[in-house]
Amino acid sequence: MKPFGILLAIVSVVIATVLTVVSYKTGETPLEWGKSWIHGQSLGPTATSQYTETYPWLDRSDTKMIHPKGLPILMYHKIGDDKDNDAVIREDLFRQQMHYLKDHGYHPITMEELYDYVVNNKPVPEKPVVLTFDDGYADTYTVVYPLLKELGFPATVFVNPGDVGTRLTWDQLKDMKDHGMTISNHGYLHKAMGEMTEEQQRENMEKGQEGLAQHLDLADNKWFCFPYGSMNQTSEKLAKEEGFKLALSMKSGWAHAGDDPFNLKRVWIGNAVDLKHFEERLTTEHYSDL
Ligand SMILES: [Zn+2]
Repeated sequence: MKPFGILLAIVSVVIATVLTVVSYKTGETPLEWGKSWIHGQSLGPTATSQYTETYPWLDRSDTKMIHPKGLPILMYHKIGDDKDNDAVIREDLFRQQMHYLKDHGYHPITMEELYDYVVNNKPVPEKPVVLTFDDGYADTYTVVYPLLKELGFPATVFVNPGDVGTRLTWDQLKDMKDHGMTISNHGYLHKAMGEMTEEQQRENMEKGQEGLAQHLDLADNKWFCFPYGSMNQTSEKLAKEEGFKLALSMKSGWAHAGDDPFNLKRVWIGNAVDLKHFEERLTTEHYSDL
């Protein structure tokens, strides 16, 4: 019995060491890693087919994956020179911020990756951040899209299908969609849904989906963003019933694993967010009010 006991102890130590090393390297818990190994996936979490379809250049196989305490979903609107609108950011400042992300090893993640993190507590690349652009301004096509394409950053554009043509055209949206930007539903019209009846809200969500399906062949959009962040007590329930996987608000803060997926907070970015404050908003969820 004695030699057997010693052998058992040695085997246990070896197994524990292997699991610890593997889980450190992959960012998964030993249990998660065991599951992915059993299901025949290669070592470490890699891009799923959904990511590779939309983002053919995104490959997470050499990226360190982590379980962060939270991550910032950055909220941009218009890039331009409007002085009196705090939702607008100057082009030079915006470019500086995107290059800051690149130079400091940040990893913008996709909506699918955000969903997997929030709902399934899956690991994400180290220094994760989500890039969102609301309302579909003309500069989303002329400034944001070329820069993000150059940097290889995934991002999501929330548009109002009932308003397309006033700022962006469907052709421009299709071009972005075909080259790695996620185009998503910001309501058929940009109206405060918190002030609508249940039926009106449902219609604003559904007609938005129909517009994306009809013009962009996007029959399976899973993301919603409430115009003005306006919601009432039925809004979340409706987003869920309509088949969305995540809905974004405009409440200030970071997103966390375990958060309500239909009321995710975001981090406001405008001209007031200079590089020092940008850095702060990326590194702590207790960032200063501006
Ligand atoms: Zn909006």
